[in-house]
Order: sequence, then structure tokens, then C-alpha cells
Amino acid sequence: MALKSDDFNIFTKIYSLKINADRLQQHFEEMSLIGKIGETGTCRPTLTPLEKQGFELAAGWMKDAGMNTRIDDFGNLVGRLEGSDTSLPVLMMGSHLDSQPYGGRFDGVAGVLCAIEVVMALKEHQIKPARSIDVISFADEEGWRFNKGLFGSRGILSKLEEGELQRTDKDGISREQALIGFGCDPTKFKASEYMPGSIWCFLELHIEQGPVLDIAQKPIGVVSGISGPLWLTVKLKGMAGHAGSVPMPLRRDALLGAAEITVALNEIATQVPGAPTVGTVGTMNVFPASRNIIAEEVNFTIDLRDIDLDRRNRYEKQLMDKIESIAKKHQLTYSISEDTNSAPRYCANWIKEIIHTECKILGLDAPELMSGPFHDALTLSYICDYGMIFIRCKDGISHNPLEYASYEDLALGAEIMFGTVVKMLSLKIEL
Ligand SMILES: [Zn+2]
Repeated sequence: MALKSDDFNIFTKIYSLKINADRLQQHFEEMSLIGKIGETGTCRPTLTPLEKQGFELAAGWMKDAGMNTRIDDFGNLVGRLEGSDTSLPVLMMGSHLDSQPYGGRFDGVAGVLCAIEVVMALKEHQIKPARSIDVISFADEEGWRFNKGLFGSRGILSKLEEGELQRTDKDGISREQALIGFGCDPTKFKASEYMPGSIWCFLELHIEQGPVLDIAQKPIGVVSGISGPLWLTVKLKGMAGHAGSVPMPLRRDALLGAAEITVALNEIATQVPGAPTVGTVGTMNVFPASRNIIAEEVNFTIDLRDIDLDRRNRYEKQLMDKIESIAKKHQLTYSISEDTNSAPRYCANWIKEIIHTECKILGLDAPELMSGPFHDALTLSYICDYGMIFIRCKDGISHNPLEYASYEDLALGAEIMFGTVVKMLSLKIEL
């Protein structure tokens, strides 16, 4: 396929890339046709014929790159480039080909296609690693169909929870049925698991899904870690009364308390300018929700994230103090339940350093940034060292057909990933 822009040709010459930017673009364009919605959108749900079609397309490219391929019993597509010493733990790379119901062309796809391109480039430069390399498109990263994500990556690490196979989608199809329909055998999960110690490191390239790189006008970011969210549900209880008659000083207005706590969370999360801390009140349920009744009860959620766990813990304490004082001020009672409390997972320093070095070789000044969203790398982080490369995405838009990353940026990301793999495996490259 001919490249459309002269700029792109100039671009590939300037950087003298070892990966093939033209081919990478072509792969993105072909993959975007599967489950295409509108001009630029994608709907490729997990464990569907559309995802299978995507897997078949990707598996063909994996084979071209010298990998053998299989779909395991969790519904993961696995391509393996066999190393000369199969006793060594594998280097794993990957992401996901499933999409949100109203998603874009790059979320997840970037990590799979760039990883395949890295292996293609290894083959073209006649580099034969001692260590095997696995490229995986993980099953159901997105989690919307059965309301729980990271299924494939948790599956291979024996981290599935009770009742997961019985979860159903909106049509009443259970995950178990969907897996069987996809050709998987849930009774054979064990055989698809990776034994402890069999994965050496994990690399994931992903679009940022936020605006930091776009605002900084940097094509590539080096991920410092995936921040752990603290999820709380707060219930405030006051006293209902007539909005027309209860004098202001006598009110016990639960919604007013919730509003003040929302503002307080915002102030707490923004007290260090430039810090990556984020705090969000995303839902609020008001009872009895009538325009002329003072709110008696409000339930709302809090999402607090930071890559620095000490700071997040300090902020949590500040928030608790605020909730206490605001409740007191408005004579409210309250209860708080903790729904999720996961610690940040840091990328390995030595892998980050290699990625930084590879960026510098291309003349790129790549900032370090944390990932607010989850990725499959989060699951892998519990069993091996991992590294992540972020690609700038326009206006930070993701999970939306408007999601956009340029082919130039993606090619740079793939090139950096290639250089990183070569260095991690201490391979010699003949040019
Ligand atoms: Zn993703």
C-alpha cells in the first residue's frame, strides 16, 4: 500500500527506522476495518466472531514474523518466537484487540501491532534471540461485556475469581458460553496458565488515553507506573424538610455536605501543582430527589489515584478529616465503605532507563508519566518486571471513535520498543 503523505516518507528517512513504518500503518488500517463503526470507530467485543477475525488477521502477521500461534483456553491469542534456549523464561509483549462498544482504532491495538512489528524487525535483521518472545492479545481487557476486565492476563496467571464464568452479558450469555462459542475449553484453563517463573519481563505499548503528552507536544512518554485507585463510597445522612419553610440555620442538608466534600476532594488533589494526583466524585445519588425537599441522604463515590502511595495515604487522611468536619458542621451522620484499594505498581527502573536511552537515540525527550487507567501490564506487574511506552493521543481522547494517534508517533513507539527489546536481550544488531 502506498503511503499517502510525503511527510511520512521524509519522516521515515529522518529517523532511519529499523522497523517498517509503512507496514505498521498498513496493519493498523487493515485491523481498523474489523468491527468498524462510522468513519473512525471500532466495536470489537471480546469473544465474538469479530474478535476472532481480528485474531486471524494478527495471527497471519505473527506467522509472517516467524512466530507460531495459538488461541489458548482463556481466549488469548498467543504468538511465540521460539528462542534457541527454550529453558529461559520468556519476554512477553502485548495488549488487547478487543475494544469498547463505541471505541477507537488504537486502544490496545497499538500494543499488539507494534509488538508484532518488533518481532518482524528482529527477523528482518536476522536477530535470533536465545530467549523466546511471546506476543499476546489478551482476552477481554476492556471488561464491559461481562463487567470485569483483564480476564486473559489474570487467567494465564491463575488469578481468576470465583464466579467469573457465570457472569453474563446484556443478552444473558455467560462468559463460559462465550468462551465455548469461541472454541475455548474452560475445563482446560490450567494448561493455558504460565508457570511461576516462566515469564521474564513484560512490555506494553499503549496510547496514553490522557492529554499530558499532547499538551507537552511530545510523541512518546515513558510510564513510571500504573497508579492504584482508592475507591470509596460515602453515605451522608441528614434530615428531609420542606425547601420552602425550614430556615437555613436549622437544616441538615446531606446534599450540601456532599457538595462541600466534592470541593474539598478537588482541593486536596490539586494542592501540589503539577503532581499526577487525581480525585473524582463520579456518581451521586440523592434521596428523595425532589426539588422542594431538602436532601435527606446522599450516596456518592470517590476515586483517588496517585503514583505516590504515601501521598495518596496522606490525602486520604486529609479527606477523612474533611468529611468529619463537614458532617459535623451540617449535623450529618456518615459511613464510608472501601470498595477498592490497590497500590501503585511501578515500572522496573532498569527497563525505564533502556526506554529513555532508546528515546534519546531518536532525539526524543520523553517525559515520564504515570498511567491512571489499568492495563494488562498491571496484572503482569505482580509476577515480573515490566515497562510501558505511551504514545501521544490527540486531545487525550480515548474510548471514543475520535481517538487518534498518528502513524508517525506509533512508528516511533515501535522503533523504541524494538531498540528496548534488543537491549534487554543484549542482542547484536548488524546493519
Ligand atoms: Zn487498552
